[in-house]
Amino acid sequence: MIEFRGVHKWFKKLHVLNDINLHVKPGEVVVVCGPSGSGKSTLIRTVNQLEPIDQGTLIVDGKDLSEKKLDINALRAEVGFVFQQFNLYPHLSVLSNITLAPIKIRKTPKAEAQEQAMALLERVGLAEKRDAYPAQLSGGQQQRVAIARALAMKPRIMLFDEPTSALDPEMIGEVLDVMQKLALSGMTMVVVTHEMGFAREVSKSVVFMDQGTILEQAAPEEFFINPQHDRAKQFLKQLL
Ligand code: ADP
Ligand code: MG
Repeated sequence: MIEFRGVHKWFKKLHVLNDINLHVKPGEVVVVCGPSGSGKSTLIRTVNQLEPIDQGTLIVDGKDLSEKKLDINALRAEVGFVFQQFNLYPHLSVLSNITLAPIKIRKTPKAEAQEQAMALLERVGLAEKRDAYPAQLSGGQQQRVAIARALAMKPRIMLFDEPTSALDPEMIGEVLDVMQKLALSGMTMVVVTHEMGFAREVSKSVVFMDQGTILEQAAPEEFFINPQHDRAKQFLKQLL
Protein backbone atom coordinates (compact mmCIF):
# COMPACT_ATOMS: atom_id res chain seq x y z
CA MET A 1 0.00 0.00 0.00
CA ILE A 2 2.90 2.32 0.81
CA GLU A 3 6.47 1.67 -0.21
CA PHE A 4 9.47 3.90 0.41
CA ARG A 5 12.59 2.81 -1.44
CA GLY A 6 15.77 4.74 -0.74
CA VAL A 7 13.86 7.97 -0.14
CA HIS A 8 15.77 11.16 0.64
CA LYS A 9 14.65 14.68 1.33
CA TRP A 10 16.48 17.86 2.21
CA PHE A 11 15.31 21.20 3.57
CA LYS A 12 18.17 23.27 2.18
CA LYS A 13 21.18 21.65 3.89
CA LEU A 14 19.17 19.69 6.43
CA HIS A 15 19.00 16.03 5.44
CA VAL A 16 15.53 15.48 6.87
CA LEU A 17 14.85 12.04 5.34
CA ASN A 18 17.93 9.91 4.85
CA ASP A 19 17.56 6.66 2.91
CA ILE A 20 14.09 5.72 4.10
CA ASN A 21 12.98 2.17 3.30
CA LEU A 22 9.56 1.24 4.60
CA HIS A 23 6.80 -1.05 3.43
CA VAL A 24 3.23 -0.84 4.71
CA LYS A 25 0.91 -3.59 3.54
CA PRO A 26 -2.86 -3.24 3.14
CA GLY A 27 -4.59 -3.28 6.51
CA GLU A 28 -1.39 -2.80 8.49
CA VAL A 29 -1.00 -0.27 11.26
CA VAL A 30 2.49 1.16 11.63
CA VAL A 31 3.42 3.46 14.50
CA VAL A 32 6.21 5.99 13.98
CA CYS A 33 7.99 7.38 17.03
CA GLY A 34 11.21 9.18 17.79
CA PRO A 35 12.58 12.42 19.20
CA SER A 36 11.24 15.81 18.17
CA GLY A 37 12.81 16.96 14.91
CA SER A 38 13.70 13.43 13.76
CA GLY A 39 11.57 13.71 10.59
CA LYS A 40 8.36 11.89 11.59
CA SER A 41 5.97 14.54 10.30
CA THR A 42 7.96 15.02 7.12
CA LEU A 43 7.91 11.26 6.55
CA ILE A 44 4.13 10.94 6.66
CA ARG A 45 3.58 14.23 4.83
CA THR A 46 5.42 12.80 1.81
CA VAL A 47 2.76 10.08 1.50
CA ASN A 48 0.11 12.54 0.32
CA GLN A 49 2.59 14.93 -1.29
CA LEU A 50 2.29 17.63 1.33
CA GLU A 51 6.09 17.35 1.03
CA PRO A 52 7.67 16.16 -2.21
CA ILE A 53 10.67 13.82 -2.01
CA ASP A 54 14.03 14.65 -3.60
CA GLN A 55 15.41 11.19 -4.30
CA GLY A 56 14.32 7.55 -4.28
CA THR A 57 10.96 5.96 -5.01
CA LEU A 58 7.69 6.32 -3.16
CA ILE A 59 4.72 4.21 -4.23
CA VAL A 60 1.31 4.89 -2.67
CA ASP A 61 -1.60 2.61 -3.51
CA GLY A 62 0.15 1.54 -6.70
CA LYS A 63 0.97 5.07 -7.83
CA ASP A 64 4.54 6.23 -8.24
CA LEU A 65 4.56 9.71 -6.71
CA SER A 66 7.41 10.86 -8.94
CA GLU A 67 5.26 10.45 -12.06
CA LYS A 68 4.81 13.72 -13.86
CA LYS A 69 1.12 13.17 -14.56
CA LEU A 70 0.27 12.19 -11.00
CA ASP A 71 -3.14 13.57 -10.01
CA ILE A 72 -2.46 15.07 -6.58
CA ASN A 73 -6.14 15.63 -5.83
CA ALA A 74 -6.91 12.00 -6.58
CA LEU A 75 -4.00 10.95 -4.36
CA ARG A 76 -5.19 13.16 -1.49
CA ALA A 77 -8.69 11.73 -1.79
CA GLU A 78 -7.17 8.27 -1.23
CA VAL A 79 -5.06 9.33 1.74
CA GLY A 80 -6.77 10.85 4.78
CA PHE A 81 -4.68 13.01 7.10
CA VAL A 82 -5.40 13.85 10.74
CA PHE A 83 -3.33 16.63 12.30
CA GLN A 84 -2.33 17.35 15.86
CA GLN A 85 -4.35 20.58 15.78
CA PHE A 86 -7.66 19.17 14.40
CA ASN A 87 -7.85 21.94 11.74
CA LEU A 88 -11.65 21.94 11.53
CA TYR A 89 -13.30 24.83 9.67
CA PRO A 90 -14.44 27.07 12.55
CA HIS A 91 -17.29 28.71 10.63
CA LEU A 92 -18.90 25.41 9.58
CA SER A 93 -21.07 23.08 11.62
CA VAL A 94 -19.82 19.59 12.42
CA LEU A 95 -22.00 18.15 9.66
CA SER A 96 -20.81 20.69 7.08
CA ASN A 97 -17.17 20.10 8.05
CA ILE A 98 -17.66 16.47 7.13
CA THR A 99 -19.74 16.91 3.96
CA LEU A 100 -17.69 19.74 2.40
CA ALA A 101 -15.03 17.69 0.62
CA PRO A 102 -17.31 14.84 -0.51
CA ILE A 103 -19.69 17.39 -2.06
CA LYS A 104 -17.00 19.62 -3.57
CA ILE A 105 -14.38 17.07 -4.60
CA ARG A 106 -16.16 13.71 -4.89
CA LYS A 107 -19.29 15.43 -6.30
CA THR A 108 -21.45 13.43 -3.92
CA PRO A 109 -25.08 14.70 -3.87
CA LYS A 110 -25.73 16.70 -0.69
CA ALA A 111 -28.38 14.40 0.80
CA GLU A 112 -26.18 11.37 0.28
CA ALA A 113 -23.13 13.16 1.73
CA GLN A 114 -25.16 14.09 4.80
CA GLU A 115 -26.38 10.54 5.25
CA GLN A 116 -22.83 9.24 5.07
CA ALA A 117 -21.64 11.96 7.44
CA MET A 118 -24.28 10.94 9.98
CA ALA A 119 -23.14 7.33 9.76
CA LEU A 120 -19.57 8.48 10.41
CA LEU A 121 -20.67 10.63 13.34
CA GLU A 122 -22.41 7.57 14.81
CA ARG A 123 -19.18 5.68 14.38
CA VAL A 124 -17.15 8.25 16.33
CA GLY A 125 -19.94 8.65 18.90
CA LEU A 126 -20.93 12.23 18.06
CA ALA A 127 -24.23 12.00 16.18
CA GLU A 128 -25.88 14.46 18.60
CA LYS A 129 -23.26 17.11 17.76
CA ARG A 130 -24.15 17.41 14.07
CA ASP A 131 -25.23 21.05 14.33
CA ALA A 132 -22.58 22.20 16.79
CA TYR A 133 -19.64 24.39 15.77
CA PRO A 134 -16.05 23.32 16.48
CA ALA A 135 -15.59 25.93 19.23
CA GLN A 136 -18.48 24.31 21.13
CA LEU A 137 -16.70 20.95 21.28
CA SER A 138 -13.97 19.62 23.53
CA GLY A 139 -10.58 18.85 22.00
CA GLY A 140 -11.30 15.14 21.99
CA GLN A 141 -14.64 15.69 20.26
CA GLN A 142 -13.02 17.97 17.68
CA GLN A 143 -10.41 15.36 16.91
CA ARG A 144 -13.09 12.68 16.50
CA VAL A 145 -14.89 14.99 14.06
CA ALA A 146 -11.59 15.48 12.21
CA ILE A 147 -11.27 11.71 11.90
CA ALA A 148 -14.85 11.44 10.62
CA ARG A 149 -14.13 14.23 8.15
CA ALA A 150 -11.08 12.41 6.80
CA LEU A 151 -13.06 9.15 6.52
CA ALA A 152 -15.83 10.89 4.56
CA MET A 153 -13.57 10.89 1.51
CA LYS A 154 -13.44 7.08 1.74
CA PRO A 155 -9.66 6.98 1.90
CA ARG A 156 -7.68 3.76 1.45
CA ILE A 157 -4.96 4.98 3.81
CA MET A 158 -5.14 7.11 6.97
CA LEU A 159 -2.20 9.10 8.29
CA PHE A 160 -2.19 10.52 11.82
CA ASP A 161 0.36 13.08 13.01
CA GLU A 162 0.41 13.06 16.82
CA PRO A 163 -3.40 13.07 16.96
CA THR A 164 -3.57 13.11 20.75
CA SER A 165 -0.65 15.40 21.59
CA ALA A 166 -2.78 18.53 21.87
CA LEU A 167 -5.41 16.88 24.07
CA ASP A 168 -5.98 16.97 27.78
CA PRO A 169 -5.12 13.56 29.23
CA GLU A 170 -8.74 12.61 29.94
CA MET A 171 -9.61 12.97 26.25
CA ILE A 172 -6.82 10.89 24.79
CA GLY A 173 -8.60 7.59 25.34
CA GLU A 174 -11.73 8.47 23.37
CA VAL A 175 -9.64 9.38 20.32
CA LEU A 176 -7.43 6.30 20.58
CA ASP A 177 -10.58 4.15 20.88
CA VAL A 178 -11.89 5.53 17.59
CA MET A 179 -8.51 4.87 15.97
CA GLN A 180 -8.40 1.35 17.34
CA LYS A 181 -11.84 0.61 15.91
CA LEU A 182 -10.68 1.96 12.58
CA ALA A 183 -7.65 -0.32 12.67
CA LEU A 184 -9.87 -3.31 13.45
CA SER A 185 -12.01 -2.43 10.43
CA GLY A 186 -8.94 -3.11 8.28
CA MET A 187 -7.79 0.42 7.48
CA THR A 188 -4.16 0.88 6.49
CA MET A 189 -2.75 3.39 8.98
CA VAL A 190 0.50 5.17 9.69
CA VAL A 191 0.37 6.84 13.08
CA VAL A 192 2.96 9.18 14.51
CA THR A 193 2.41 8.87 18.23
CA HIS A 194 4.13 8.42 21.52
CA GLU A 195 1.14 6.57 22.94
CA MET A 196 2.93 3.34 23.59
CA GLY A 197 -0.18 1.54 24.82
CA PHE A 198 -1.78 2.16 21.44
CA ALA A 199 1.38 1.01 19.66
CA ARG A 200 1.44 -2.19 21.70
CA GLU A 201 -2.21 -3.06 21.31
CA VAL A 202 -2.92 -1.94 17.79
CA SER A 203 0.20 -1.75 15.64
CA LYS A 204 1.86 -4.41 13.58
CA SER A 205 5.22 -2.69 13.79
CA VAL A 206 6.92 0.29 15.34
CA VAL A 207 9.33 2.49 13.43
CA PHE A 208 11.85 4.47 15.46
CA MET A 209 13.23 7.53 13.69
CA ASP A 210 16.30 9.49 14.62
CA GLN A 211 17.91 12.32 12.66
CA GLY A 212 16.10 11.53 9.44
CA THR A 213 16.75 7.80 9.41
CA ILE A 214 14.77 4.77 10.44
CA LEU A 215 17.06 3.49 13.13
CA GLU A 216 14.89 0.57 14.06
CA GLN A 217 11.72 -1.20 12.93
CA ALA A 218 10.28 -4.06 14.92
CA ALA A 219 7.12 -5.64 16.22
CA PRO A 220 5.93 -3.60 19.23
CA GLU A 221 6.54 -6.39 21.76
CA GLU A 222 10.11 -6.63 20.50
CA PHE A 223 10.77 -2.91 20.28
CA PHE A 224 9.51 -2.07 23.75
CA ILE A 225 11.13 -4.96 25.54
CA ASN A 226 14.39 -5.10 23.70
CA PRO A 227 15.25 -1.95 21.71
CA GLN A 228 18.51 -2.41 19.83
CA HIS A 229 19.93 1.10 19.72
CA ASP A 230 21.02 3.33 22.56
CA ARG A 231 19.04 6.22 21.07
CA ALA A 232 15.87 4.09 21.16
CA LYS A 233 16.59 2.99 24.74
CA GLN A 234 17.06 6.61 25.81
CA PHE A 235 13.91 7.66 24.02
CA LEU A 236 11.80 4.95 25.67
CA LYS A 237 13.25 5.67 29.09
CA GLN A 238 12.18 9.29 28.88
CA LEU A 239 8.61 8.33 27.96
CA LEU A 240 8.16 6.54 31.27
P1 ADP B 1 9.24 15.60 13.82
O1 ADP B 1 7.85 15.50 13.29
O2 ADP B 1 9.90 14.28 14.06
O3 ADP B 1 9.34 16.48 15.03
P2 ADP B 1 9.74 17.13 11.41
O4 ADP B 1 9.54 16.22 10.27
O5 ADP B 1 8.65 18.09 11.71
O6 ADP B 1 10.15 16.30 12.70
O7 ADP B 1 11.03 18.00 11.18
C1 ADP B 1 12.29 17.41 10.90
C2 ADP B 1 13.32 18.53 10.74
O8 ADP B 1 13.01 19.29 9.57
C3 ADP B 1 13.35 19.52 11.90
O9 ADP B 1 14.68 19.90 12.11
C4 ADP B 1 12.52 20.67 11.40
O10 ADP B 1 12.92 21.87 11.99
C5 ADP B 1 12.82 20.65 9.90
N1 ADP B 1 11.71 21.14 9.08
C6 ADP B 1 10.44 20.67 9.08
N2 ADP B 1 9.68 21.31 8.16
C7 ADP B 1 10.49 22.20 7.56
C8 ADP B 1 10.30 23.17 6.52
N3 ADP B 1 9.12 23.31 5.91
N4 ADP B 1 11.37 23.91 6.16
C9 ADP B 1 12.57 23.76 6.76
N5 ADP B 1 12.81 22.87 7.74
C10 ADP B 1 11.80 22.10 8.14
MG1 MG C 1 6.07 16.23 14.02
